[in-house]
Amino acid sequence: MGLTRWIQGIERSRDRTVWLALRWFLILTIALLLAPPGSGRTPGAYQIALLLAFVLSNVALTFFPSSRIDQRRLEFLAVIADTFLIAVALFSAGLRNSNLPLVFFITLLLSILGASVSRTALAATLTAGLYLYLTWRTSDGAGMTEVLLRLPFLYVSALYYGHIVVKAREEMSRVRRVEREKRDLETLVEVTGATTSTLDLHEVLYIIVRRIALLVRALRCSIITVDEERGLAAVLASSDDPTVNGLALSIDKYPEIRQVMQTRRAVVINDVGAEPSLAPVRARLKALGFESIMVLPLVHGDSLLGMLILRAARAEQVFSEQEIAACQVIANASANALKNAMLYDQTRREAESRRQTAEKLQNILDHFPDLIYTTDLEGRITEFSRGGEAMLGLRRGEMLGRSWEDLYTETEALDRLRRLQSIGETQPAFETTARGRDGSMCEVLVSAAKLNDVHGRVTGTLGIIKNIADLKEAQRHLVQAEKLSAIGEVISGVAHELNNPLAGVLGFAQLLQGGTLEPKQKRSVDRILESALRCQKIVKNLLAFSRRSPSEKEMVCLNRLIEKTIEMKAYQLKVNNINVAKTLDRHLPKTLVDANQIQQVLLNLINNAQHAISQRGLQGTLNLSTSLRGQTILVRVTDDGAGMPPDVLGRIFDPFFTTKPVGEGTGLGLSVSYGIVQDHGGRIWATSTPGSGATVHIELPVRSTERPESPAAKKAAPAPSPRVPPLRVLAVDDEVVLLDLLTDFLERDGHQVETASSGREALSRIQDRDFDVLIFDLKMPEMNGQELFERVRERRPELGERVIFASGDTLHPETRRFIKESGRPCVDKPFKLEAMRDAVIHVALAGRGGRPAAAGPA
Ligand code: ADP
Repeated sequence: MGLTRWIQGIERSRDRTVWLALRWFLILTIALLLAPPGSGRTPGAYQIALLLAFVLSNVALTFFPSSRIDQRRLEFLAVIADTFLIAVALFSAGLRNSNLPLVFFITLLLSILGASVSRTALAATLTAGLYLYLTWRTSDGAGMTEVLLRLPFLYVSALYYGHIVVKAREEMSRVRRVEREKRDLETLVEVTGATTSTLDLHEVLYIIVRRIALLVRALRCSIITVDEERGLAAVLASSDDPTVNGLALSIDKYPEIRQVMQTRRAVVINDVGAEPSLAPVRARLKALGFESIMVLPLVHGDSLLGMLILRAARAEQVFSEQEIAACQVIANASANALKNAMLYDQTRREAESRRQTAEKLQNILDHFPDLIYTTDLEGRITEFSRGGEAMLGLRRGEMLGRSWEDLYTETEALDRLRRLQSIGETQPAFETTARGRDGSMCEVLVSAAKLNDVHGRVTGTLGIIKNIADLKEAQRHLVQAEKLSAIGEVISGVAHELNNPLAGVLGFAQLLQGGTLEPKQKRSVDRILESALRCQKIVKNLLAFSRRSPSEKEMVCLNRLIEKTIEMKAYQLKVNNINVAKTLDRHLPKTLVDANQIQQVLLNLINNAQHAISQRGLQGTLNLSTSLRGQTILVRVTDDGAGMPPDVLGRIFDPFFTTKPVGEGTGLGLSVSYGIVQDHGGRIWATSTPGSGATVHIELPVRSTERPESPAAKKAAPAPSPRVPPLRVLAVDDEVVLLDLLTDFLERDGHQVETASSGREALSRIQDRDFDVLIFDLKMPEMNGQELFERVRERRPELGERVIFASGDTLHPETRRFIKESGRPCVDKPFKLEAMRDAVIHVALAGRGGRPAAAGPA
């Protein structure tokens, strides 16, 4: 800016010097004209005064500092005065009236031709020639000297006016340039303003293109982006359509764009009609009225961001240098604007995508069931997911800023995590307990790791806590179930082996009891029978435990069952000073259970509670509660007895585990209960605080689908045994003692008994003999009772209708199914003799068409 002004200053001072010089020449030539040397003519006083005035004025103008006064106005006044002087000189030089049009013509010629000094000189020469010619033609005899003296005057006058006209023209073009520059500047200001007023890319670009279109009077001004690699372009904004935003262009159709892409330089086509490269698209351009095109690259650094395209329909069809320069300046400004807006757009999109990612992550964190937390280097919690709320009752708000150590209780877990926190030692996932808000403990699996930022710097730790309480519970159940099933196998075998000798003991003891004995002997036999019955009960329990007989289910109201069970135990509980409290849910639905089995479970639990209370003191409280949770009934049996330490609590469902004194506990109560509850599709577990009591929890599903068998159909009351005539009985068993027992017993009833110790022997017996009743043991080596029965039916179908089975394992599902399908009666081993007698009589009666025998032994 300073340089321009300095140059302008030099130019102006040079112009002024020329002008002042011309004035000196003008004054001199006029003086010569008014007093030509040798003519003897002296100028009049007023002419001398005028000349002196001009001399003085020029001296003043020469030495007067130009900055003091308004230069232009002064020069204007001087030019008017000078014109007056010239006019005076002209008239004084003896120009006649007829010469006036000539003077006017000369002045006009000078003005028109005075565009430059050279033209002015030419005009002055022409004027001088013309003057000489006219003077010569109209010469009135004036001396030649005078005529010649007019020449310098005219010459200088011409130069003087020519100079003024040149100056005026220069001034005018300067004014025009300043105006254009002002317009350019305004555009630039507006463009720059647009880039700072809004960061909406489209808005910025639309303002730019509209402003440029106005500036260069273009029909359309557009800004496009280009993808050089893929050869694609898109119009970001167009001055004639504010809605254009991202319109795709195929670069193939725009040779001028391709050219700019290749050269990175502006392309100016001033005449579309004459440009060979536009031949393929000329018709289309012409149809749209585009006569000239200018394409400017928008470059930022090394990258071509896009282009500014101008299409105009102008008469002169030329983009001037100034326009191109102005457009280039604006294009550069636009490139910056475009870059800024693109950067902003990109940043905004990145921020948006980061926000969305953060939201997504937060959402995942919020819905992730595990607890995820992070800590800083000082161990303060910096993030805490919502999983912690459901798992431990801890909220994010209250945990942020607290130490991670508050979450754990076990020393080993704390040590491991401290090592991770302090020295970054990686830890494999481990199980521990986490502390809940209310101090409760939760079994968890912890995975923890160092937390790094994007530069790999450690910023803290990350921990994931998974609730594995259910998993551990399921694991414990599985272990328990496996343990039970293995033990069950052993027990089953032992029980079977015990059954037969026990049947002998029991049977013969009963026989002895029925005979005539001395009181002392009778007491002994009673003891034997009593002990044998106890053994029988144990064996039955063992079989129940190992086999888990299919239960006989019916729709039962558990509340009623609990009440009935308490009633059964009421007396015993009362004498033991135990209060019974019930919290029973009145809306409990009925469910399908084996009432006897569930009652057995309840009795076991009540017995245990009673024992635990008696261990602790003189009195206590037993609480039984029921509640419904969804489709599950929860039964709780709570006592305030001695409770159990954790090591006992972990083993109570193991078979034969007991803490009761020998003879008091078998250690089977809870393991049998476990099996029963599991058979019902439920769960049983215990909780206890040593010294303050224990609670056994049972969960049973609410079920109604299995159709219960009618208990009436199953358990028809046995009719009193009618008498039957002597029968022929075949008893088949591999146990000799049982064959002896049956023989002894049935012969006492007057029957005739034959025995066989194997299936094969039995088959040979029936070949040629007839029997009224056949008693088959189900479990025999080689050929078992089932096979024997089928063979008998094949050979002697009528004998098949007279078979009675004896089995030590009627609880086994297979056995039960076979007996049911065969339709034959079955007597449990070790049998009560009465039961065997009843079965024999019923078979005999059925064989005789139900007619009772007339007489027979009792
Ligand atoms: P048993 O009653 O024959 O010992 P159980 O299987 O019923 O066999 O019980 C096993 C053990 O569990 C008991 O010996 C006792 O130590 C413990 N137990 C069961 N219930 C309770 C209870 N309510 N309070 C304290 N200990 C109990």
